[in-house]
Amino acid sequence: MTLTLHNTLTRKKEPFTPLNEKNVRMYVCGPTVYDRPHLGNARSVVVYDVLYRLLAHLYGQEHVTYVRNITDVDDKINAAAKANNEPISALTKRVEGWFHDDMAALNVLPPTNEPRATSHVGMMIALIEKLIANGHAYVSQGHVLFAVQGYKEYGALSGRKLEDLIAGARVEVESYKKHPGDFVLWKPAEEGDDASSVFASPWGRGRPGWHIECSAMSTEYLGENFDLHGGGADLMFPHHENEIAQSRCALPGSKFARYWVHNGFLTVNGEKMSKSLGNFITVRDLLDKGIKGEVIRLALLSAKYNEPLDWTDKLLEDAKKALDYFYRIISRADLALGEKEYETWLHDNGSKENGMVSIKDDLTDDLNIPKMLGSLHVWANAVSILPDRNKKVNLSGYIIKKYLHIIGLLNMTPEQWFKGADDSQPIEELINSRIAAKKVKNFAEADRIRKTLADQGIILEDRPDGTTDWRRA
Ligand code: AMP
Ligand code: ZN
Repeated sequence: MTLTLHNTLTRKKEPFTPLNEKNVRMYVCGPTVYDRPHLGNARSVVVYDVLYRLLAHLYGQEHVTYVRNITDVDDKINAAAKANNEPISALTKRVEGWFHDDMAALNVLPPTNEPRATSHVGMMIALIEKLIANGHAYVSQGHVLFAVQGYKEYGALSGRKLEDLIAGARVEVESYKKHPGDFVLWKPAEEGDDASSVFASPWGRGRPGWHIECSAMSTEYLGENFDLHGGGADLMFPHHENEIAQSRCALPGSKFARYWVHNGFLTVNGEKMSKSLGNFITVRDLLDKGIKGEVIRLALLSAKYNEPLDWTDKLLEDAKKALDYFYRIISRADLALGEKEYETWLHDNGSKENGMVSIKDDLTDDLNIPKMLGSLHVWANAVSILPDRNKKVNLSGYIIKKYLHIIGLLNMTPEQWFKGADDSQPIEELINSRIAAKKVKNFAEADRIRKTLADQGIILEDRPDGTTDWRRA
């Protein structure tokens, strides 16, 4: 079994072979902390969390280094702090906390390292000095710029040509640029800038450009050559193109990242969900409505990671139904027995999970989660013809738990899932009263209790053995 991934650099699906299986290294562009994460941001974070979990599953947790940075110095941050009339550090600290809380609610694991840009300015300055020294960057009007014409492979990732950049450039190219495609490595501080966004440098007081932040932090934690770099499709150009150019030119002989992975957009009516368009829903909006984090997570995974996903409420409804189904099966299954029966099944069926499909292959085939969910159903159907009801449930429960756990789902017990945290006592009491009423054939009372519970959103399920189970609608 090999993991294949679509590599933007080669535009092909390729087998993923890390430089060192004992230390698989992955870098993903993290949030710019100026506001709560919306569902588009969350899609990107969840997709790479799945990839991280899968790499950890394949190579061992201790053999994967995952770096996701925090961009805490940026024009958008300066503008938001000014608008809120608060210090930058107060804003970035608060938003970073929101980001962590909201992502934890979606079962997103913390990365191995989560460097903040403001703590790595020294490394950025060192890279810029190298670029100036070897002729790839120049100082102009207090700015330092990267000269794109000096890097022959500029455009290889995004497929853009320098000539098109000139043609596409707006008329008012900044006067400090020699070429319209040149980009900022360092910019001077402005009057009234908050001290926490101003740093001393050989070119005066100022702050780094966004692109150099990621080049510096990835190199610091992963070295000059590492395995995989990810981010949203919007970052392919210019951000990732510029990261490659800077890093390769500053560190001659380095290749920087070998595999480039880009997640597709989350859209609303076909348009990219974004802060600037105002068509966004934050993760917190949904959590505050009582929608469970796992439901949001599964909804965000319902299209293939590199294809667009158009957001509708139906995605949440479908994800909720699917998770209810999965949790119901595992609540009835004996997972330990299921595992034993699974071993026997594999033995009897020549190591195939099912005559036609292998669920793990879907996951390792460029993270095809929609196909994997389909295969889980094919599996459940294949198993459903077994004559032994218990065996059927145990096997299905085991395999469902096994695979959904790899992608960060089914982290609760069925009890927690269906019943919520702590207020189940009065519900159990009402259910017991209803069972007692039914025993003495007081069906009017039993129906009244059923209705009382239904009004609280509690659905009862009578079992053939006389017991009653319940769940929230
Ligand atoms: P930002 O905070 O805008 O820099 O975005 C942080 C991350 O979220 C980047 O990797 C973006 O590519 C990603 N992102 C932003 N909006 C969307 C969207 N609508 N769909 C998918 N990813 C997005
Ligand atoms: Zn980046």
